[in-house]
Amino acid sequence: MPELVVQQRGGYRRMSLLETRKLTKMFGGLCAVNQLDLQISPGEIHGLIGPNGSGKTTTLNLLSGLYQPTEGKIYFNGVDITSKKPHERTRIGIARTFQTLQLFDDLTVLDNVMIGRHCRTKAGIAAAGFRTRRMQVEEQETRLYAMELLDVVGLKSRALTLAGNLPYGEQRMLEIGRALATEPRVLLVDEPAAGLNPTEIRTLIGFFRHLKAKGVTVLLIEHRMEVIMQVCDLITVLDYGGKIAAGSPKEIQNDVK
Ligand code: ADP
Ligand code: MG
Repeated sequence: MPELVVQQRGGYRRMSLLETRKLTKMFGGLCAVNQLDLQISPGEIHGLIGPNGSGKTTTLNLLSGLYQPTEGKIYFNGVDITSKKPHERTRIGIARTFQTLQLFDDLTVLDNVMIGRHCRTKAGIAAAGFRTRRMQVEEQETRLYAMELLDVVGLKSRALTLAGNLPYGEQRMLEIGRALATEPRVLLVDEPAAGLNPTEIRTLIGFFRHLKAKGVTVLLIEHRMEVIMQVCDLITVLDYGGKIAAGSPKEIQNDVK
């Protein structure tokens, strides 16, 4: 995909991997996201913080295509994706997790990840009942790939456990593993540390560093500041749906003091 260079007063600049312009979402009279300009560069871990009700989850829902904005635009690698459906966004490389778990409790850990992977295979889940030789080969490749991902999120030994039987922290990691199965270029994560114990939070921090080393771009919503401060390159602060600050962890920390 060609990179888009945009003209601005005083010169040109390269566009971010994911960018919003004047993004706005109204729910009746309530302005949940207000004229938001967000810029996420390739390879960056970008934190999105702010008090409860400040519009973080709504922003993520707009980026993933679950909601249509009232106003404003969303660009992915310079291409306007504002009117694209959620599954189209998954295909071009945007993956997400949810604030509350959205796993298939009655399926195994491995199957949960393989379902995430099916948007990248030709056969797809619908055709699984009718199996050609080629589909079987593809399924075997998917299984191997899913096992590698389970290793990355620390769940390899749990592959055949039913997702519903995992402790909560491991369920959260499984949800991230499934999102990664779509081979995203951008991962949108909503409060992954909620409900985790200190050991699990350390694992989570290590995991985000691993993702960064792999070059995956991340938008991380999180209210645990120790997680934000340790993993983010840049942070955007929301209040009442609008951006009130943006900067490095150090700059933001000095701001809130
Ligand atoms: P945060 O994730 O920062 O806690 P949200 O994005 O969930 O905030 O919510 C922002 C505001 O929008 C809140 O006032 C919330 O009540 C409202 N809101 C969120 N989703 C909806 C919805 N589907 N319908 C109506 N109001 C909503
Ligand atoms: Mg939220």
